[in-house]
Amino acid sequence: MNKKTVYMDYAATTYTKPEVLEEMIPYFNQYFGNPSSIYSISRETKKAIDMSRDRVAKALNADRSEIYFTGGGSEADNWAIKGIAFAHKNKGNHIITTKIEHHAVLHTCEYLEKYHGFEITYLDVNEEGIISLEDLKNAITDKTILVTIMFGNNEIGSIQPIKEIGAICKEKNVFFHTDAVQAVGNVKVDVKDMNIDLLSLASHKFYGPKGVGALYIRKGIRIHNLVHGGGQEKARRAGTENVAGIVGMGKAIELATEDIEKHQSRILPLREKLIKGLLEIPHTRLNGPTGDKRLPGNVNVCFKFIEGESILLMLDAMGICASSGSACTSGSLDPSHVLLAIGLPHEIAHGSLRLTIGDGTTEEDIDYVLEKVPTIIQRLRDMSPLYDEFIKGDGK
Ligand SMILES: *Cc1c(COP(=O)(O)O)cnc(C)c1O
Repeated sequence: MNKKTVYMDYAATTYTKPEVLEEMIPYFNQYFGNPSSIYSISRETKKAIDMSRDRVAKALNADRSEIYFTGGGSEADNWAIKGIAFAHKNKGNHIITTKIEHHAVLHTCEYLEKYHGFEITYLDVNEEGIISLEDLKNAITDKTILVTIMFGNNEIGSIQPIKEIGAICKEKNVFFHTDAVQAVGNVKVDVKDMNIDLLSLASHKFYGPKGVGALYIRKGIRIHNLVHGGGQEKARRAGTENVAGIVGMGKAIELATEDIEKHQSRILPLREKLIKGLLEIPHTRLNGPTGDKRLPGNVNVCFKFIEGESILLMLDAMGICASSGSACTSGSLDPSHVLLAIGLPHEIAHGSLRLTIGDGTTEEDIDYVLEKVPTIIQRLRDMSPLYDEFIKGDGK
């Protein structure tokens, strides 16, 4: 690359770490055997999958028999929600989620609502993007079979009180699924301590390869299959295993979870510096919570009077990779459902910028962004009719 590139979109995806890639390579060309075959190169692939399963289980404080590999985070979310819904529909047809879930959860719930007669409660969040435990308790009825609430939000970084939610679900005897795709590798995740029944994760959010993820399913839980076919993954998820991807995920989760405190203590000061610098720009607000209720690498701000999309284009011209709303919705002109859920009016939600930092982020990167962003915002505001009106008005 000849142009300077500052990558600040770690919540969209991460690069694959060299140590991870290195462990993966032999499983493309040396140990390429189908794990279901019996000759010896296949035994190596089988062994590698088992080792990966152990590594994922250890990172979550689960048992290896509770880890099922999938084709990513979206598949894990779909499987958890549809699988529980279809297996337990005789008990009830009610599912509880929140208004700020990733589309992999929201669209799955909408599908069950539209085509399969399920009733979904979408819990509100407060201005920080956090649910109320009282609301959750009140929403649970004798028809409720599943609560699905994300661990950490991909847009505004809000972390839910997962352990308390787990305790409520346990007491009320409903299954608790959490989409922990943004949390794994960033904050401590412990399925036993937090009473989690099902948990989704995706390798490419913690420096592993794309297209591989996992669903943790607590021992003894009855769930329908999503992908039908061969007998892989104890006949619960068909399809020849993505061996190299699974190996990479195992290595990546080990690296990402072996010292979370160290990771946090490096990232947090960078995040705080970035937030502080951005908030010095006039008419700017921070979206999402502060302190340790926020994912360590997440920054999300709104600049009044301008459009997020135009900020992104100008940042891109300076080599800065960022996002507005979530990657899946960019290209559409609807403001983010998450920003609307925390109570922002449409016109402000449109001017949002998400910068997510990670292991490759340096202090120089932060300085570079803080040098460029104020000029960009001023230039866009100079062209903005809304800002013009505001300046010509009383300027309040
Ligand atoms: C990225 C992400 C997903 C989707 O994961 P994929 O591996 O891209 O399918 C789901 N939930 C959250 C919170 C995410 O950040």
